[in-house]
Amino acid sequence: MSETTQPQESILKKTGSFLPNLIGIAVLLAAGYGLRHGSLGEIAWFISAICMTAIRIPHSKQNQNNEIIDDKKDIIETAVLFAMFIAMGLLPYIELATRVFSFADYSLPSWAMMVGLIAQVPMLWLFWRSHADLGKNWSPGLEIREDHGLVTGGVYARMRHPMYAAIWISVLAQPLLIQNWIAGALVVPVFLLMYVTRIPKEEAMMRETFGESYDSYKASTGRVFPKLSRGSR
Ligand code: SAH
Repeated sequence: MSETTQPQESILKKTGSFLPNLIGIAVLLAAGYGLRHGSLGEIAWFISAICMTAIRIPHSKQNQNNEIIDDKKDIIETAVLFAMFIAMGLLPYIELATRVFSFADYSLPSWAMMVGLIAQVPMLWLFWRSHADLGKNWSPGLEIREDHGLVTGGVYARMRHPMYAAIWISVLAQPLLIQNWIAGALVVPVFLLMYVTRIPKEEAMMRETFGESYDSYKASTGRVFPKLSRGSR
C-alpha cells in the first residue's frame, strides 16, 4: 500500500511548512538576541533546546515519508500536545525575547541552576540515543507506521520510554534554568498531564500491534526508570 507521494502533494507540504518554519526561525533569533541580558541558566536552556531540535529534525523529515497504518490520536492527545508546544516550545522563547512575563519571576539559589545545567548532559544523550534506537519507528503522535517493528534493544532494552525519560529531565530542569512561573515552571504540570494520559494509550496500542512480544518486553523493562533485574524474555 505504499504509494509514492504525488508531486503536487510534496509541493503543498513544502509550501505549507514554509511559514511555520519562517516564524520559528524569527522567534529563535529574537530569543537569541534577547539572551544578551539572559542568565547562564537561560543560555543553557536555549542551547539545549536547539540541540533537541537538531536531534529531532532528521527524524521528523524521515517520519513524514512513512505511511501511517494506525492512528490513536484523540482530542485529549491533540490538546496536550498543543499545550506542550506552548509551554516548552513557545512561552520560554517569548519570555527570552521580550521579558513580558517578568512579573512571574522567582529566584533560586545558584546550585539549583547548576543542577538544571548539568542535567542537560544525560538528557541530551538519552534524547539522542532514543531517537537513534527507535529510528523510523519514531513518531510524534500515537501512530503505527508501515513496517513498524518493536524495538527492544539499545536504550529500549531496560526501559520502555527512554524518550519520555529524557523529556522528563528537560521538563524538570526548565524551571531551574528559566526561573519564571509561566516560561519555566508551567511545563511541569503540562507534561505530567501528557505523560499520564499518553502512556496507557501508547502501551495499549503497542500491545494491540505486537501482542505477546510486547507483554514479555513489558515484563523485562521499566517505564522511565531502567529495570535492573531483567526477567526472562
Ligand atoms: N514512548 C517511547 C517512544 C516515544 S515516540 C519513548 O519514550 O521512548 C512515540 C511512538 O513511538 C509511539 O507512537 C509508537 O508508535 C512508537 N514506539 C514506542 N515504543 C516503541 C518500541 N519499543 N518499538 C517501536 N516503536 C515504539
